[in-house]
Amino acid sequence: MNTYTNTMVKAAGLTHGKVSSYTSGCRCTECREALRRYTADLRARRRARRVIVKGRPFAAVDQNGNYLQHGTPSTYQNWGCRCFSCRVAKAADHAPLPERTLK
Ligand SMILES: [Zn+2]
Ligand SMILES: [Zn+2]
Repeated sequence: MNTYTNTMVKAAGLTHGKVSSYTSGCRCTECREALRRYTADLRARRRARRVIVKGRPFAAVDQNGNYLQHGTPSTYQNWGCRCFSCRVAKAADHAPLPERTLK
């Protein structure tokens, strides 16, 4: 446990195990678990919005009805879009590192 964040959370009157505590800066196990559950749930709900285009899941709009940007790893990751542009972006994002950066 990091004393600094713990003090901060107490000072802000936050409760551990909440996403709001995590976003306020706490990184304890409970708060990280809360964020993980929240993110998993959010992702599931986002993915449920996808439509099938040409046999692949396509994330057209966000929860506010705004068109999503394609060709970005985040649309692939967070919205589960599998259109050509997003798959290319995801592949590029995970390109192998140059050998000299490895041990
Ligand atoms: Zn916490
Ligand atoms: Zn896409």
